[in-house]
Amino acid sequence: MALVVLKFGGSSVGDAERIRAVADRVARARRIGNDVVVVVSAMGKTTDSLLRLAGDVSSVQPGREVDMLLTSGERISMALVCMALAELGIEASSFTGSQAGIITDTDHTKAKILEIRPKRLQDALNSGIVPVVAGFQGVSTANDITTLGRGGSDTTAVALAAALGADRCEIYTDVPGVFSTDPRIVPEARRLNSVSFEEMMEIAANGGRVLALRSVEFARNHHVPIYVCSSFTWEPGTWVVEEDPSMEEPVVSAVTCNAAQAKVTLTGVPDQPGVAAKLFRALADSLVNIDMIVQNTSMAGFTDISFTIPQDELSVSIAATEQLAPTIGASTVLVDDQIAQVSIIGAGMKTHPGVTATMFEALSAAMINIEMISTSPIRLSCVVRRDQADEAVRVLHRAFELEKSD
Ligand code: ASP
Ligand code: MG
Repeated sequence: MALVVLKFGGSSVGDAERIRAVADRVARARRIGNDVVVVVSAMGKTTDSLLRLAGDVSSVQPGREVDMLLTSGERISMALVCMALAELGIEASSFTGSQAGIITDTDHTKAKILEIRPKRLQDALNSGIVPVVAGFQGVSTANDITTLGRGGSDTTAVALAAALGADRCEIYTDVPGVFSTDPRIVPEARRLNSVSFEEMMEIAANGGRVLALRSVEFARNHHVPIYVCSSFTWEPGTWVVEEDPSMEEPVVSAVTCNAAQAKVTLTGVPDQPGVAAKLFRALADSLVNIDMIVQNTSMAGFTDISFTIPQDELSVSIAATEQLAPTIGASTVLVDDQIAQVSIIGAGMKTHPGVTATMFEALSAAMINIEMISTSPIRLSCVVRRDQADEAVRVLHRAFELEKSD
């Protein structure tokens, strides 16, 4: 008998009818002979509403209290799903993250899972009871309730699948899988039958919104196959699995766009050893996540350094850079918050030359200027003007013929 973890996102438990539909899916998975563990997100936009409420109440929001507040959303879903299952005659018990044995560090609002002690879940399974677990939460080593960061229920589901030795983790969402790009930008975008963990990590890290990045890292590290599909339809979804070395890999699988980026440039930087180290140490100490870095050739001993960051880290980046600038003898700090990063991702890039040229030619034919470039073995990214980002995605999707089926 297989053990499967079924995770239902916010829209999949959005109202009473959707919750009953979730119970039907669970019943069906059991009927065909699986043991099932369910993980749920908060209903619809509950987490956003709770955050808004907190903002209306106070400008001071201690992380411990934010976490206590937000975890209530998933509690509502888990209790209601258990009730819907009871009506179908299925015995189910709800568990908070803490009750499910999810132990995290003490970093409130973005805690990391340190360990899982799934004994209570295991006992429930052994007694034929379906455990329904609140996603996105755990309990810290200091015994406080924590959350795992936005979208964290995916991580809960994959982590539980790993801890319980489940055969797979099925993620139910409002789109039927992972697409070659955002279908709202390119209507011909295609659902992918499968992607490798590595490709999915690049997709999640570079603007794809179907799975939280951390959950994919977890799945890769613990070899948990993920199946992403829609809870609204019965169409097939996308497998996220280990790369199959015997298969020819697609050169490019997906085009992504991350518009929530900004660029900071420090000009007049003395071209000496240690200067970049000081700058990026200062940014690291402010917990800024740097993405791309470009340093120009130096002219008369001075150079410019530009880097990109997530837009919501812009103000702290500016503060850290402005504070540091005089101490290293740099002149000015320039900010550009009108950029977007467009990426092509594919495992086959490793072995196929010419991908870079095709990407640049497609952008140039559309008169889109490339401002910065970065690469990984299976990804090529360009920074472009944000108002040209959608067009860049369209021309790249076409240039690599991603609308054709595999
Ligand atoms: N409810 C949380 C959020 O909206 C966690 C999740 O949905 O995965 O971020
Ligand atoms: Mg969600």
